[in-house]
Formats: sequence, structure tokens, C-alpha cells
Amino acid sequence: MPRPFRLSLTLRMLTPLSSGAAGAGAALADKTVVRNGLGEYILPGSQVRGTLRHACERLLRAMAPADSLCHGPRPEHMCPQDANPHIRTIPDPHVPHDMVRCCPLCAVFGSPYFPSSLQFHDLLCVNPFRGQDSKPYQNQREAMLGQETIRSMVSMNRRRGVAAEQRLFFIETTPAQPHLTFRNTEAVVGTLESIAQAKLLLAGLRMLVALGGGRSRGLGWIAIEESSAWLDDQQVTADAWEALRELL
Ligand SMILES: [Zn+2]
Repeated sequence: MPRPFRLSLTLRMLTPLSSGAAGAGAALADKTVVRNGLGEYILPGSQVRGTLRHACERLLRAMAPADSLCHGPRPEHMCPQDANPHIRTIPDPHVPHDMVRCCPLCAVFGSPYFPSSLQFHDLLCVNPFRGQDSKPYQNQREAMLGQETIRSMVSMNRRRGVAAEQRLFFIETTPAQPHLTFRNTEAVVGTLESIAQAKLLLAGLRMLVALGGGRSRGLGWIAIEESSAWLDDQQVTADAWEALRELL
């Protein structure tokens, strides 16, 4: 039985975040930070989802026999993998009274065949300048917490170990402020089947060390300030991790 699930999340940036896509926006930088209509920084839910799925996958692969999970990201290698007897069967969401193989990762995060029952929402940067009225900021500088931060970077030729020619580029990051936090009390909402699935998400969050782009260059390192999950309006505790074995 699907049960209502909600996860509240607050992240603190230990190093500046580079959350954007190349070529977005009209700024000088080749890659900008994602903002909402007010100009406030946001951390896209899709980035949290992708990084969290990867963390949960590492965790489950360490616990389970190698073949009990499918092998993404190519759709033909993801669930349902009917030829793999190591993957559990669940009722087929598209064919009544039929069973189909779905690994514990696709059961939570979905695959091209299985729709995910969770929605990941964007996290909003906590801004002390934000006012209560219809125009929450006096100027763009307040919404951006200062001036935009542009960094110059150079692509490396890894084989030769030197800077690649003609490869200077510029990226925008959030400002390097020590208490910059991103928050959403409904960061993840939807339904889950079991407490074990909720604990999987909490365990995966504990493995996250960085989000966004430029992680190998030291950008986007995070600390989880708060992560609270509720299933059926009961808080899911971050302990008794042996429950995760039910998933396999
Ligand atoms: Zn799968």
C-alpha cells in the first residue's frame, strides 16, 4: 500500500555552489547559478534527486549481491530486467494481475518503465534580506546576497597534465558566505511503500558530500543541517539501519 511521505531538507554550503547549466541566462559567465523569478538562488530538485539516487545505489551495491540492482543509466539496462532472477518482483503498474521485476532503487527513484512516486522540489536559498510584502527585495543586490561571483577556470588536458589551449571559461557560483543555506520543508513529497524505503533516502543523504558542478574543483561541498522524514505522519528515525535489508 502506498503511504504518504514527506522529507524536509536544509543544506549548508561549505564551498560555493555551481548549480547551473551551460549557456543558460544572459550573464557574462558560460555557466550561471539557477535562480527563480525574484533572482534568489535555487538548488534544483533534479540535482538533489540525481545525486541522492547515486548515493543510494552505492549503498545498496555495498550491501547486496551484484546482480540484485539494474545497471543504469541506459534505459535498456534499467528495470524491468525480466531475465535477472536476482531482482525482486512487484505488481506491474501497467498490466493488472501481472508481476514484473523491479530493483529497490527503481522502486523508489523510478526508471523509464516505472514512474517514480516521489517529486523532488527545488531548495531555496535562505535570504536574510527577504521582506514580507509583495516586493520582497529593494534591489537585485539583496536578492543575490551581494555581487555576482564569477570565477575563471581552465580545462586541463589530463593526458599531458597541462592547461588545454583555447579553453578558458567562466562560471558563476553562489557567494562564498559561510552560512549560506538552502531549504525546503517539502523537498521530497509523494508516496512510499515501506519504512525501509524512507530509511534508504535518509541513509543516502548522509552519504552526500557535494552537489552541483565543479565538485572535483572543490565547489558545491555541503553539510546536511537538517533532514526529517515522515511516513504516514510518523517521523522516520535515522537509526535501526538493518531495516534496509528488507529492500533486497
Ligand atoms: Zn532497477
